Amino acid sequence: MSGNFLALAQPGVQQLSPYVPGKPVDELARELDLDPASIVKLASNENPLGASPKALAAIREALDELTRYPDGNGFALKSLLAEQCRVELNQVTLGNGSNDILELVARAYLAPGLNAVFSEHAFAVYPIATQAVGAQAKVVPAKEWGHDLPAMLAAIDANTRVVFIANPNNPTGTWFGAEALDEFLQDVPAHVLVVLDEAYIEYAEGSDLPDGLDFLAAYPNLLVSRTFSKAYGLAALRVGYGLSTPVVADVLNRVRQPFNVNSLALAAACAALKDEEYLAQSRQLNESGMQQLEAGFRELGLSWIPSRGNFICVDLGQVAAPVFQGLLREGVIVRPVANYGMPNHLRVTIGLPAENSRFLEALRKVLARG
Ligand SMILES: *Cc1c(COP(=O)(O)O)cnc(C)c1O
Repeated sequence: MSGNFLALAQPGVQQLSPYVPGKPVDELARELDLDPASIVKLASNENPLGASPKALAAIREALDELTRYPDGNGFALKSLLAEQCRVELNQVTLGNGSNDILELVARAYLAPGLNAVFSEHAFAVYPIATQAVGAQAKVVPAKEWGHDLPAMLAAIDANTRVVFIANPNNPTGTWFGAEALDEFLQDVPAHVLVVLDEAYIEYAEGSDLPDGLDFLAAYPNLLVSRTFSKAYGLAALRVGYGLSTPVVADVLNRVRQPFNVNSLALAAACAALKDEEYLAQSRQLNESGMQQLEAGFRELGLSWIPSRGNFICVDLGQVAAPVFQGLLREGVIVRPVANYGMPNHLRVTIGLPAENSRFLEALRKVLARG
C-alpha cells in the first residue's frame, strides 16, 4: 500500500489549482497542424518587440562564463537598480522573476494561522504563494473590477501579515491613484507588509498612476515589486526585484535560493536597464496598440475594461469561451480569464500592429459566424 500523497499534502496545497499559463504557440501548431510562424500569441503579456539588442549582446558575452556560479549577490544589477530607483543597495532584493519575490515574502512572513489579504480578480500567484506555505487567503470582493482598498483595509485582522495589491492589476488592467494609495498605506497596521506589485508600471509612465517608489521612505511596511518580464522584454530569463527597507530585504535574503538569478539574466537585465530607447519604444508601441484594439472593439460594438497595462480585457458576454476556441482555430491565442472569476471576458495582450490587426480580423470573423 502506498500513501495517498494528495491527501498527505498540507491542506492549503490540496486546495490549490496549478497556475494556468497562456497556450504555447507550438502546442496549438501541433493540435491544428498549423505553421507556428502563422500563429499570433497575445496571451501572456509578453513584449512583442523581442528582446533589446543590447540585452542580447550582453547575454552572448556572458555565455563564456556559464561554468561559473552567478554573482549570488547580484552586485552589478543591484547597483544599477539602486541608482535608478533612488534607494540604497541594501534595499534591493533580486528574484527569479518577480514571482520569486512574492514567494519569498510568503515564505518569510506567512504560516498556518496567519493570512494574506488580496482582491478578487487579482494575480493568480497571490493565492499560490499564500496557500503553499499553509496560510489563509482572504479574498476581498472587487469594485468595478478593481481593488476596493477600503474594503481590503477592513479585511485586515491581527493575523494578517501581508497584503498584495497590484497597480495596475492583472488581469483586469485596473489601477488606483496616488491619493487612494497614500490613504491606504496610512491606515494599514504596522504589523502588515504591503506588497505593491508594479509588474506593468513602466507602461504607465506619465499617467495618473503613482510611482510606488515615492512612498518607500514614508512607509517602512511597503515593498514594491517589479519585473524585467514585461516592458523590458526578458520574460524567458526570469528576473525581477523587490524594493523595501533594508530590514525586509535582509529577511527575504535569508530565505532565497543562494543563486536565484542566473548570470545570463543578470547580464541582460543590466543591459536592458540602460537601453532607454528600447523602453521608450515598448511604451509607444503599447500605447498605439491599445488605441488600435479599443478602436477595433468600438467598431465591433464590444465593451472592455480600461487598462493601464500591456493587455486589455474585452467583454464577450456568454460567448467568451466559444469565441476563445474560434480564435484558436484562426491561429490566434488570447487568454480566457474564467479562472479569475471573469467568465465573460477574454484578456488580450497588446501585440505588434499587424498582430493586433490579425486578432481583430479573426474576432470579427468568429463573431460573424455566431
Ligand atoms: C507578469 C506579472 C508578474 C511577474 O512576473 P515575473 O515574470 O515573475 O516577473 C507579477 N505580477 C503580475 C501582476 C504580473 O502580471
